[in-house]
Amino acid sequence: MSDLTLREKFDRDNFVVEKLDNLINWARAGSPWYFQFGLACCAIEMMAASAPRHDLERFGVFPRATPRQADVMIVAGTVTIKMAERVKRLYEQMSDPKYVISMGSCANSGGPYWQHGYHVLKGVDLVVPVDVYVPGCPPRPEALIQGILELQNQIKSETTFGKSDSK
Ligand code: SF4
Repeated sequence: MSDLTLREKFDRDNFVVEKLDNLINWARAGSPWYFQFGLACCAIEMMAASAPRHDLERFGVFPRATPRQADVMIVAGTVTIKMAERVKRLYEQMSDPKYVISMGSCANSGGPYWQHGYHVLKGVDLVVPVDVYVPGCPPRPEALIQGILELQNQIKSETTFGKSDSK
């Protein structure tokens, strides 16, 4: 793709010719709908990111209440051993291509429960593949937004059939 974005090309010429990969990636990166669920305190920050002050919908990021309509799973909070199997099952119910953002220290590595939390999974990447890690306890909404922008950049560099659930 040239230095101009698809949007800029379209605005300039009212016409656009582009590689299929770039068109598909442009559409996917502009609408990463996320699966609306939260596990602990980090979920409050995720909700704040969707609220009017931060307005995630500016980036085409929109909550869905079912995994079957979601592109992105944001794991926001402490993943207990009991919940881990449910998180994995919900991930498997999402259709490809699908992405995971691990939000906060708990989802990344067990967080404050890392040493003595016998009931906490030491990182959600033990049960689902994570595309972007957002650090913090809790990460602010701006940090989640940064993670989403990073995911959008990753999506833009994919090939159409290059991502499968077997990674
Ligand atoms: S990382 Fe911190 S804020 Fe987030 S769920 Fe864990 S303890 Fe709560």
